Amino acid sequence: MEPYRIKVVEPIPFTTRQQREEALRRVNYNLFDLRAEEVTIDLLTDSGTGALSAAQQAAGMAGDESYSGSRSFYRFHEVVTELTGYRHILPAHQGRAAERVLFSTLLEPGKLALSNTHFDTTRANVELAGAEARDLPCPEAKDIDSPSPFKGNIDIDELRRILTGPEGHRVAMVVTTITNNGGGGQPVSMENIKQTSALCRAHGVPFFLDAARFAENAWLVTRNEWGYQDRTPRQVAEEAFRLADGCVMSAKKDGIVHIGGFIGLNDGELAQRCELLLIATEGFATYGGLAGRDLDMMAQGLTEVTEPSYLAERAEIASYLAHRVHAAGVDILEPPGMHALYLNAGRLLPHIPPHNYPGHALAVQLYLVGGIRSAELGSLYLGEEDEAGNPTKSAPYELVRLALPRRVYTRSHYDHVGETLAVIAKHAGSVQGFRITEQSPILRHFRATLEPVPLGY
Ligand SMILES: *Cc1c(COP(=O)(O)O)cnc(C)c1O
Repeated sequence: MEPYRIKVVEPIPFTTRQQREEALRRVNYNLFDLRAEEVTIDLLTDSGTGALSAAQQAAGMAGDESYSGSRSFYRFHEVVTELTGYRHILPAHQGRAAERVLFSTLLEPGKLALSNTHFDTTRANVELAGAEARDLPCPEAKDIDSPSPFKGNIDIDELRRILTGPEGHRVAMVVTTITNNGGGGQPVSMENIKQTSALCRAHGVPFFLDAARFAENAWLVTRNEWGYQDRTPRQVAEEAFRLADGCVMSAKKDGIVHIGGFIGLNDGELAQRCELLLIATEGFATYGGLAGRDLDMMAQGLTEVTEPSYLAERAEIASYLAHRVHAAGVDILEPPGMHALYLNAGRLLPHIPPHNYPGHALAVQLYLVGGIRSAELGSLYLGEEDEAGNPTKSAPYELVRLALPRRVYTRSHYDHVGETLAVIAKHAGSVQGFRITEQSPILRHFRATLEPVPLGY
């Protein structure tokens, strides 16, 4: 059961099918353009959408809003230092701000960044600094049906090959994303983090964690990695941070706050250069673009998130939803993660070709039938066409992500998701694909407008 009871509630909107049809036409079938008031169950993201605890609210009320040296900063600093062990901690307003400050200080044109999988903002910030971002997912990651427990691992052989090869001198950093968000939310084993750490140290390359879901990764390590069964998630997390030279963190995930992030570093000279950029672009080094109350709520969230009862229930509710989805006859990327499930839309809707976006078609059905908002992670997100609209690149898999906000929805809400999917799966053959009517040159899934393509067209 949930290890909490509900103290504050917010009504969720109920709409009719006709209202949802009208809303979809109004936004030209782009789900980002719906008003949140038109969505009954919002599974678009787990970022910044969690529910605060009473202790976090109380900590926020006690926040110190002094410009510099606030009590809130010192509380935050102490909590993060104890958790991570890093010598220098810089607050930032969210994960991508931490990435921009660190990467634009560390990287330059010609340099290479290696990762299990760069998250999209991580890749963007590496590229904005003029460097190349290269993903080295482990071989098991390529089989979406494999239930292998650590599909988030970096490919150690490939990492060693690059570090010892002719490109070795270009490698400016290695970033391990825990859990691997861009790779289906799969965890990374401690063994893999240890091997990465040893290789980086041997080659003098700084090694960072992109730690947005460090607690969920630690939980899955205690469940599935030999030698870690008797450790607490907190102990695993502490060990993981200490194997790296620093981290970037989006606290909108495992900080359970609506806004917040930080950089942790051991290298004093690098930290000093980051601090100057932080002051110029985010805010003074004791608030980094955040209010004092935000720092207090983040400190409290970072201590709550490794509670075994919280993590056990979060894993439990994800497998509960996975079970409902399987029962509806829909496949997912296996094994189910903790922060999201990824529906295999390509397999459910084989009559829709990639350039008619089966993932988007399923996401639209989820909204139309059940008022549920999700995120397409298929060819609308990753595909490309030439100027005449002919497809030149499609995604390896047509997926739809159901992200699970922290402490927000209960099992009856997820029952509704399962029932909605069962209705859609029953009539899968009559689901229509889409075509793009307008798109932007980059990040098109955010801004594209679309229209349905009649069946058999
Ligand atoms: C969300 C996320 C980021 C970016 O963080 P924001 O707080 O959204 O800016 C970076 N890396 C990973 C793995 C994330 O999930």
